[in-house]
Amino acid sequence: MVDKIYDVAVVGGGPGGLTAAIYATRAGLDTVLIEKLSAGGQMTETAQIDNYPGFPEGIDGFSLGAHMQQGAVRFGCEVLQNEVLALSLTDSPKVIKTDAGELSARAVILATGATHRHLGIPGEEALIGRGVGYCAACDGMFFRGKTVAVVGGGNSAAADALYLSRICKKVYVIHRRDTLRATKIYHEPLMHAENVEFKWNSTVAELLAENKLTGVVIENVQKGDRETLALDGLFISIGRTPATDLVKDQLSLDQNGYVIADETTKTNLAGVFAVGDVRTKALRQIVTATADGAVAAHFAEEYLTQAYE
Ligand code: NAP
Repeated sequence: MVDKIYDVAVVGGGPGGLTAAIYATRAGLDTVLIEKLSAGGQMTETAQIDNYPGFPEGIDGFSLGAHMQQGAVRFGCEVLQNEVLALSLTDSPKVIKTDAGELSARAVILATGATHRHLGIPGEEALIGRGVGYCAACDGMFFRGKTVAVVGGGNSAAADALYLSRICKKVYVIHRRDTLRATKIYHEPLMHAENVEFKWNSTVAELLAENKLTGVVIENVQKGDRETLALDGLFISIGRTPATDLVKDQLSLDQNGYVIADETTKTNLAGVFAVGDVRTKALRQIVTATADGAVAAHFAEEYLTQAYE
């Protein structure tokens, strides 16, 4: 790994991180972006993105991520495909330890996003990839013509259920309340889909398996009744947990574990900014993450000017 001090290190290559990298490099800052998987982060799991402006026919998340990365590289951003193992954010310069060595940067933009929340019931971890999944857009095709269930009632669960209803024989939606939290746009098509059946006021009590998932036992949270559903696949879509393990002892977090940062993206540490899904914010979308990226690069530039010149 190069023995030099970057102006800016961006940790995470989702839309927030990639936009920060575009703005920082375009402003002439020596910028490195470190991402352990592929460009785009969580959005690579989305088959069709219709609410990011500029794409009248929509675009898949993988392509959008690749385009964003190409933009950053065009202005000279260095992109490393490595895992970040530790961050020392109070050091000056700040130190980023990766699986390929250490690097230093005067400012850090944290764009680590959020990971899928698990149900936490026995057998769940062992059945991942054997019928249990967290990304319908990634794995739904394996269940073409089969019977699946989606757990959750938010936008992700509704989008997943709608997507699966087009390729699966039958889709159950298992939700712990009697209404969806999802935006209205999903309600009507879901309610009208003949192969979608709602299991309201229900939680997954047990996973049934013989090497791979064969079904679930659901429990009615009001009456306590139990019912067995025979399934080929179960998609757990119950929200996300912010990826803050690297910073939880250094940055202030809210009660849900998100990095406390307002619209300036500034955290409690000077020269450290948080963008996208990892920070406290009202709406977690690609477009709000990209906006954060631009803002963070702006304030990183301001910080570098004031602290180092
Ligand atoms: P979310 O909005 O937090 O919804 C999570 C859902 O899972 C809720 O219905 C919740 O139930 C349920 N849930 C949580 N923990 C559970 C548990 N342990 N057992 C059973 N059910 C549980 O999360 P999300 O749907 O992943 O969305 C995250 C963000 O991305 C949101 O801001 C959302 O608007 C955005 N998003 C937008 C789109 C879009 O098309 N615009 C698509 C996907 C995501 P309760 O309702 O009872 O709390």
